[in-house]
Amino acid sequence: MKAEIIAVGSELLLGQITNTNAAFISARLAEAGVDVYYHTVVGDNPNRLDEAITIAQNRADLIIFSGGLGPTKDDLTKETIAKKLGVALESDNDALISIEAYFKRTGRTMTDNNKKQALVLSGSTVLANNHGMAPGMAIKKNGKCYILLPGPPHEMQPMFEKEAIPYLLGTSGNKEVIVSRVLKFYGIGEAELEYRVQSILDSQTNPTVAPLASPDSVILRLTSKAESVEAAHKLITPVESEIRSLVGQFIYGIDEDSLSSKAAELLLRNGLTIAAAESLTAGLFMAELADEPGISSSLKGGVVVYDENAKKEQLDIPGSLLDEYGVVSSECAAALARSVKRKFSSDIGIGLTGAAGPDPHDGKPVGTVWIGIAYKDDEVKTYKLDLSGSRNANRKRAARFALYYVIKELKSRLPEN
Ligand code: ATP
Ligand code: MG
Repeated sequence: MKAEIIAVGSELLLGQITNTNAAFISARLAEAGVDVYYHTVVGDNPNRLDEAITIAQNRADLIIFSGGLGPTKDDLTKETIAKKLGVALESDNDALISIEAYFKRTGRTMTDNNKKQALVLSGSTVLANNHGMAPGMAIKKNGKCYILLPGPPHEMQPMFEKEAIPYLLGTSGNKEVIVSRVLKFYGIGEAELEYRVQSILDSQTNPTVAPLASPDSVILRLTSKAESVEAAHKLITPVESEIRSLVGQFIYGIDEDSLSSKAAELLLRNGLTIAAAESLTAGLFMAELADEPGISSSLKGGVVVYDENAKKEQLDIPGSLLDEYGVVSSECAAALARSVKRKFSSDIGIGLTGAAGPDPHDGKPVGTVWIGIAYKDDEVKTYKLDLSGSRNANRKRAARFALYYVIKELKSRLPEN
């Protein structure tokens, strides 16, 4: 089956938003074994959308649309497709009920144009929208399959995974289920990760193992197909173990984990408290950790000690230490970590200092960062980073690395985690 994705929306053409929907849909279709040959983007214009459909009909068996299912005038996707396929639009009762319920729940008044959202292509399978109002649709006509999805990613993604993929698998006569496991890495680049697991990447077909890099972390997505969820998991487990034996020290979490959620989970589960002294990051580390619900029983607080005097006055860092080693040094990071831990009576203290840029700081090149981590009464560990991004990218990465070192520290000390 050859697929084409048509993303509808003038804001995509104007560069106001990025077509992440096509990327998401493509990745999921690849897992389902469907080849995507074209991505098309077209504005909110019925004539040009009609043209785009004509072209897609000549080269694809499956055409997936995203966007333009809403209630406003510029939302024309289903009207244009209805006309093109010669099918009527009819009100779907379930969709209407769920739209009315949505308005009740959110305490808003339903206007007439909202009823338009309950209109679906006659004869289509309605794809439920559990995170918004506009239902999706799937319909077969003259040997082609058309799937219509809403634009907002938080509505489109669950609908695609929970409704559209099962529809596609079901109608293709293929009764397989697809299960994914995402392994999340930090502190290792994409190239090195690929190099280290190359033999697995080359040899695996079920599960497939696909690397994906974002600006500061790398993931491996393991995807298996089998006749049941359990059987699919069974295929993933040995491959995951093999990957862990090769590069497990860089894995900080799985699936939905983020660095902050994982660090928070480990701190909370083990009843450990933490405090931070932040120079270059000026609070970013604490802010990331504070994103996590429940963290108040672990995060005691911290200080932003940006200036040299602040380091001396707030945290008693000796002037002689700063004179001898400099502010951007292992010694300073260790002293910050130790001191903040003592001041806040926490189990763990974090110290962050560095030269974020654009100019060198304290004679150290831009991107030099030292992170200290003090655990109870043990000797403080320090880590050096040589970052190469912009000022703000360096500051964010330094905060993330500090979270990663917290995770690493707790995992190595508490192996049952
Ligand atoms: P709504 O009911 O919100 O109007 P819709 O189905 O009509 O939904 P659009 O109006 O086309 O969708 O887009 C709504 C929003 O969804 C956009 O402003 C944008 O934030 C997001 N969006 C739309 N298309 C894409 C896309 N291809 N990739 C990422 N985000 C998108
Ligand atoms: Mg819209």
